[in-house]
Amino acid sequence: MELIFATGNPHKVAEVQYLLPEGIRIKTLREIGIEEEIPETGQTLEENALLKAEYVRQRGSRDVFAEDTGLEVKALHNAPGVYSARYAGPACDSRANLVKLLKEMEGQNDRRARFRTVIALILNEEIHRFEGIVNGQIAETASGSGGFGYDPVFVPEGFDRSFAELGDEVKSRISHRARAMKKMISFLNTLRIQP
Ligand code: IMP
Repeated sequence: MELIFATGNPHKVAEVQYLLPEGIRIKTLREIGIEEEIPETGQTLEENALLKAEYVRQRGSRDVFAEDTGLEVKALHNAPGVYSARYAGPACDSRANLVKLLKEMEGQNDRRARFRTVIALILNEEIHRFEGIVNGQIAETASGSGGFGYDPVFVPEGFDRSFAELGDEVKSRISHRARAMKKMISFLNTLRIQP
């Protein structure tokens, strides 16, 4: 089975590829000749995931999935949420986003947060959604060099180090994206065993 993964983010491609079983192959946007950034104009992760998948399908691809991820911080009323990429402005600068988040959280005792990923899969003209969540805490300072985005400041529940310190193996087991992907893969497997 071949699916298009509608993202331009190489970190996301690597994480997703790591999880795919034999028999499910992905093609990236670049491989199908889409170089432009797909506009994320939705008000929710669900809307953005679907609009990215629809964008690709309308350009002639059949089976496609897209995901949108947000960091939801309790003390900030679930901000930055769907605006996580543009938290510090339209430049979508990950470092600036992280610095802004640490600033907003200065002196804050309640550091609970979660990453939430929503995948929209369009398969045989039907839309399917899968959600993955990982709970954790926002660290006082950034640490670690792995991962991307907010990983240096996110400490997942059950650990005392950030995703950026914990590395790919842990992230591929427990992350928001891994959890949503595992749901999608289970769903795809049920289709394959049907007569
Ligand atoms: P989007 O899903 O590409 O719109 O990502 C929203 C924002 O969250 C971007 O700033 C990403 O860098 C960040 N982000 C997405 N996924 C992750 C992740 O797994 N870890 C850390 N940051 C992430």
